[in-house]
Amino acid sequence: MVRIPNDCFSDPSEMLSVEEARSLIAQSSLQLTTEETIDLQDSIGRILAKDVHSAINVPPANNSAVDGFAFSHRDFETIGDGEFINVGISAAGRPFEDTVKTGNCVKIFTGALMPDGCDTVAMIEDIIQEGSRINLPTSLKQGANCRLAGEDIQEGAKLLSKGDSLRPQELGYLASVGIGQVPVFRKLKVAVVSTGDELTEPGSPLKKGGIYDSNRYILGALLKNFGCEVHDYGIVRDSFDAIRETLIKSASETDLILTSGGVSMGDEDHVKDVVEDTGSLHFWRIAIKPGRPLALGQIAATPFVGLPGNPVAALICAIQFVRPMIAHLTGETSYCLPSPIMAKAEFDMQKKAGRREWLRGRYCPSKEGGFQIEKFSMDGSGIVSSLIWANGLIELDESLTEIKKGDLIKFLPFTELYA
Ligand code: AMP
Ligand code: MG
Repeated sequence: MVRIPNDCFSDPSEMLSVEEARSLIAQSSLQLTTEETIDLQDSIGRILAKDVHSAINVPPANNSAVDGFAFSHRDFETIGDGEFINVGISAAGRPFEDTVKTGNCVKIFTGALMPDGCDTVAMIEDIIQEGSRINLPTSLKQGANCRLAGEDIQEGAKLLSKGDSLRPQELGYLASVGIGQVPVFRKLKVAVVSTGDELTEPGSPLKKGGIYDSNRYILGALLKNFGCEVHDYGIVRDSFDAIRETLIKSASETDLILTSGGVSMGDEDHVKDVVEDTGSLHFWRIAIKPGRPLALGQIAATPFVGLPGNPVAALICAIQFVRPMIAHLTGETSYCLPSPIMAKAEFDMQKKAGRREWLRGRYCPSKEGGFQIEKFSMDGSGIVSSLIWANGLIELDESLTEIKKGDLIKFLPFTELYA
């Protein structure tokens, strides 16, 4: 086996647990991508490259939380009752400019600036009006219905941290302090390569002995959901030279290479030979099902993952191992795998101890009114239709040997796994 100096994956001799494999991935010497500054509008799903602080208070000034009348609470004592005179209006974006004198109040709308001299707002529903005479409820507490400057965000506060992923609410948060451009890590460029003489491109006629390539579509779509820039290298024939050419090209153009198929021990499994010949390759034996040894390696400075050919196994390995690897590569330090939902199994099953299994499952309402988890009837990891029936994966821990109907088991919805 050829080893290049900066071999990014180690060669564990032992059988690895899922956690050990993920922690080795997280410790590997993979490079982080470079930074760029982009418009806030384009930043959904991106990873912050720097901590972000606020230059202002939010709200910037005291303002009203309701429609009503603003006044000084002290005036209840000074004037002895709740009879005030309305002297003007403060609307959102159109403040009342004068100072409000003792016994006076100002009609105010939600979000409008509190006039100078006012600290409390009576809701419109709680007042009695006769012309400009306004009777305000004396039971109101000082500061009622008033939003204070900086009560949401204080000037100088740290808003978000390097490594945070930007969701719609983070975009709104940054917008609320006036930030229009954000420093993010460059999107990870990921090469997707399908290998196999039997593979045909959808849209073309199927030849004898052929099947259509579904993995590139599954993996490409998954990677887009993971925030990557997908580089599609198509279907490559089972030939050492063709695979070598594609892998060398993709190594120079991308940050991570994913292949599917061609990494087992068959005669036509040339991906393994090419990666061993051109870079470095390790087979990690991970105690999981589905999945055989996961092929991890490096070509030039680009990490490589050889996924199984069977579509279900390719999808599951991409979710369970490539997703955390992408988080590591892109600097998404805030990433954590989704937490499972617990619900009752609607099936009985025996299981081998010592390995983690992921089954295609369906989380759905039960007759009793709660939720239950059903398991797909067939096991084969080539059955793509099982993924259409399923809405997530059942996760069975290493220690389990038997699942009985009614047992509480773990379920991971695809919606969570695809994020
Ligand atoms: P391999 O690892 O190349 O031996 O492939 C294992 C199984 O997965 C074989 O039945 C292949 O035909 C199938 N397979 C490999 N690549 C793909 C693909 N891109 N789409 C669908 N099935 C595939
Ligand atoms: Mg093959």
